[in-house]
Amino acid sequence: MRILSAEVIVTSPGRNFVTLKITTDDGLTGLGDATLNGRELSVASYLSDHLVPLLVGRDAARIEDTWQYLYRGGYWRRGPVTMAAISAVDTALWDIKAKAAGMPLYQLLGGQSRTGALAYGHASGRDVPELLDSVRAHLEAGFRAVRVQTGVPGLGPVYGVAASTAGTRYDYEPARRSGAGAPPAPAEETWDTRAYLRHVPSVFEAVRGEFGPELPLLHDGHHRMTPVQAARLGRDLEPYDLFWLEDATPGEDQAALRLIRSHTTTPLAIGEVFNSVHDYTTLLTERLIDYVRSAVTHTGGITPMRRLLDLAGLYGAKSGMHGPTDISPVGMAAALHLDLAVHNFGIQEYMRHDPLTLEVFRTSATFQDGLLHPGENPGLGVEIDEEAAARFPYEAAYLPVNRLVDGTVHDW
Ligand SMILES: [Mg+2]
Repeated sequence: MRILSAEVIVTSPGRNFVTLKITTDDGLTGLGDATLNGRELSVASYLSDHLVPLLVGRDAARIEDTWQYLYRGGYWRRGPVTMAAISAVDTALWDIKAKAAGMPLYQLLGGQSRTGALAYGHASGRDVPELLDSVRAHLEAGFRAVRVQTGVPGLGPVYGVAASTAGTRYDYEPARRSGAGAPPAPAEETWDTRAYLRHVPSVFEAVRGEFGPELPLLHDGHHRMTPVQAARLGRDLEPYDLFWLEDATPGEDQAALRLIRSHTTTPLAIGEVFNSVHDYTTLLTERLIDYVRSAVTHTGGITPMRRLLDLAGLYGAKSGMHGPTDISPVGMAAALHLDLAVHNFGIQEYMRHDPLTLEVFRTSATFQDGLLHPGENPGLGVEIDEEAAARFPYEAAYLPVNRLVDGTVHDW
């Protein structure tokens, strides 16, 4: 089973996606998601210029060997671009192997440990009444867990808050596309951490008051606090029994979590911007976090993600894989097969994809009664309609940049 061709497909059905399609000499195809939000073309180039020439002619069955060849063999290791590219190769080869076996991928990963993956959706509002409506809409849509984000009094648009309640969808898309005539530059937002810290506990007070104690509630700090600020927020939120507080401080400072952990029992999640198991060694071995937020697509694929989750399990940490809409249906399927198979599953982030996205990527995944399932098709369960993909050319897009009230650039 040799690799006959590997093709990089860039398409923008509602947002940009980079997909690798590997074809073998016996006619099987496998897909991998190589999307890196706001830096898509760098991964497309890494794949086309550097990895595709190495793949053609290789044995498609040798997944581990290919992963090590691309990771160790590249000399320059890690980094989001490299690991997104390797991830796409790894995922496509697992897709092929499972198709060759005639099984859904989760069967090759050990079979299902649960009937479905508990998903959380993104409820948000510019103010508390709008947020409560959004939580209600998510419950009506079947969600059994919700992330809660609101605007902050005195500030304009902030992370995690959908701009409008209009229409049937209430999903949040921060990356601004260039579109027709729009400038190719990031939007700029204004931030005030002290105002945020004063506001957030009252938000959870209102949500618990409205929906009671049962509903799992999550919150994302999006890397904006100092360790002592995060410690205070975790402590202030303890009465509201959060499922987790996510990305309280910038992820690269692993030791910061020691301070937070020593002050609060609010469960902690981190890791969506990580791209290697090595980013977690202090966090896991010192038991500083409860949930691993990495994405299969940014961590080098199914092979290293499985290793990371096994390591996390040794230290009592569970999965909480990244799942915004910039994870394509291909990347989401890879996550769902792992969610179903690993013992230490926690929860899966889930934002519904745009209908245009689902026109290009045909997925067998389902969402029912709050649970996601990848379906029973052999492989990942996703196929790409290349004719549809060609109708949606790439549009430059940037995530926002954040500034403090005095103009200083801050973590977004
Ligand atoms: Mg997050």
